[in-house]
Amino acid sequence: MVALKIFHYQAITLLLPEMLRGMFLGLRAFRYPKVTINYPFEKGPLGPRFRGEHALRRYPTGEERCIACKLCEAACPAQAITIEADSRSDFSRRTTRYDIDMTKCIFCGLCQEACPVDAIVEGPNFEYSVSTREELFYNKDKLLNNGDRWEYEIAHNTSSDNSYR
Ligand code: SF4
Ligand code: SF4
Repeated sequence: MVALKIFHYQAITLLLPEMLRGMFLGLRAFRYPKVTINYPFEKGPLGPRFRGEHALRRYPTGEERCIACKLCEAACPAQAITIEADSRSDFSRRTTRYDIDMTKCIFCGLCQEACPVDAIVEGPNFEYSVSTREELFYNKDKLLNNGDRWEYEIAHNTSSDNSYR
């Protein structure tokens, strides 16, 4: 009986059934379509609610959407947003400073939810890694540039998500 058991263990050790089972699984996977993509040349799809890099939007006239109500600043749980505002000669209120400290941001999307005019949004861009911490302190110019660059995608995502808001 003991000899039989030893023979059994030796057979398992020699034949390596786990390895054969693994190889069989690998061979079976040949039949299925690939799940990997060749990033960065290929990219996977993103949902319209994807929360990527922040952007400040403009109206088609070029006018800034932001009316300096500061709701986003109040809603931000990380206190990452700093806004200063002033009145223009036409008595409209506009920001003179709009900063986001991206090192504090937790990408919760509450700034976007709070904004009554869809000015601050989290766009579809997720490729904005930088080499220094300072580059993650976004100012108004940077945010407006992001808005100009991604407006088409942002407008498309916002309109496709409108019925759920
Ligand atoms: S996504 Fe959240 S944490 Fe980031 S700036 Fe907006 S409200 Fe603040
Ligand atoms: S981005 Fe929106 S919520 Fe924030 S200050 Fe401007 S208008 Fe108000």
